[in-house]
Amino acid sequence: MNQYTIFPFQFARLSQNDILMVNECGDFLFLPEDIFQLFVNHTLPETSEYFCKLKSHIFCADENIEIALQKTAARYRTRKSFLREFTSLHMMVITLRCNQHCEYCQVSCADRDAHKYDMSKETAIKVIDMIFQSPTQRPKIEFQGGEPTLNWDVVTASVLYAEKIALQQNKNVSFVICTNLTGITTSQLEFCKDHNIAISTSLDGERSIHDSCRKDKSGRGTYDAFMEKLETARKIVGEDMVGALMTTTAFSLNKLKDVVDEYVRLGMDGIFIRSLNPYGFAAEQSATLGYSMESFVEKYLEVLKYIIGLNARVFFPEQFATLLFSRILSPFATGFVDLQSPSGAGISGAIYDFDGSVFPADEARMLARMGDRHFCLGNAATSSYHDIFAGRKLKEMTSGACVETTFPCAFCVYQAFCGTDPVRNYLESGSEVRNMSHSPFCIKHKGILRGLFDILRKADDMTKDIIWSWITYNPSLVRRI
Ligand code: SF4
Ligand code: SF4
Repeated sequence: MNQYTIFPFQFARLSQNDILMVNECGDFLFLPEDIFQLFVNHTLPETSEYFCKLKSHIFCADENIEIALQKTAARYRTRKSFLREFTSLHMMVITLRCNQHCEYCQVSCADRDAHKYDMSKETAIKVIDMIFQSPTQRPKIEFQGGEPTLNWDVVTASVLYAEKIALQQNKNVSFVICTNLTGITTSQLEFCKDHNIAISTSLDGERSIHDSCRKDKSGRGTYDAFMEKLETARKIVGEDMVGALMTTTAFSLNKLKDVVDEYVRLGMDGIFIRSLNPYGFAAEQSATLGYSMESFVEKYLEVLKYIIGLNARVFFPEQFATLLFSRILSPFATGFVDLQSPSGAGISGAIYDFDGSVFPADEARMLARMGDRHFCLGNAATSSYHDIFAGRKLKEMTSGACVETTFPCAFCVYQAFCGTDPVRNYLESGSEVRNMSHSPFCIKHKGILRGLFDILRKADDMTKDIIWSWITYNPSLVRRI
């Protein structure tokens, strides 16, 4: 028996002869079964190539355990460094009114003239005062709705006030407006240009796919109106400042390649293949719009391979895979509030509803819109920053929302790259912390992570270059056909 010390790790058999091992700091290795058996039985020769790999990735140490532990701690701290940016993403619901009526609207938007759902300027100012109490040096303010351009005076007042406070506090504030674009005016776009406001819009795919869900109040598809405004927005604000998101529904699940082709045709800088969230109208319409998470994973991995193939001729990242590959292949933290441990809810992102109510996540306010205010942390107009962000409710929620302490995540080989979502847990099980086995969240992330490791295991040089070009956002890493 050899005297090396084995450090904690998780493992899974990906194929008959390939064992995936991942340690506490997220380093991974594939080992053949026989080598794995030798290693765990302390009989792997310390002179072997595999032993050197295991030691350099800190799966074990021979003599100097203290140094190996210090390296593990340093890598762990780096991976969790997103926690230092408390709280960077702040979403303001400028109004719940909308000029559209999308089939899957997760916020259950209100009628165009229902002004009671508008945020007032007074509330917006209180919200911004609260945002600037966050320790982060780089607050990002995202204007959401409904359709925020319908309450434009409050958007402009918020931007001007936030810029003033940022200057006083020497902070670097950035803005995003989430808009369906169909009603946006030239002067609104010019304001976005002048104040460096990025535009995040929605495009579900080519005309028939987009129009099947994204409709105006009379039930007509919005594709034509969207395309016209997309062109204007790109001209005025700049192509790099206009991004689009898609939502996969039963209408597009079997046509994801068509969705990708539409994004490529329009010169978009990538795509995020998103599954449907079960909130608002999407929950009411789940029989028509929904699908099983197993089918989503299957179709996601299928289209991901298609996108990797496309990258042989054009730089076009799939953004969810990019995020996960980045976690797998680099030691750095990736800010993505929906998939973090501890959960990003409240500590990485927070949302301020039109009436000033503060929620730890967008989905929490969607839940409130469905009648359940369980996650409401307080109100920006009446509660103090300390009450909300250092209060008992957020502390209790965060301390339970860790994969490291949740079953079966604590024993899962994908733990270092995954996260947890207390709001979704509560919606599905009535409890913020639940057994994740067989939950749609787990089926999705386990399935996708397994698929990504499979891609890595079989990757040729071209595929590796493509993956690194996505992670580093450097198209020149790939020699294209
Ligand atoms: S999804 Fe967005 S654009 Fe569509 S109805 Fe809801 S708020 Fe309006
Ligand atoms: S949710 Fe599933 S995939 Fe993610 S860590 Fe937990 S058990 Fe693993």
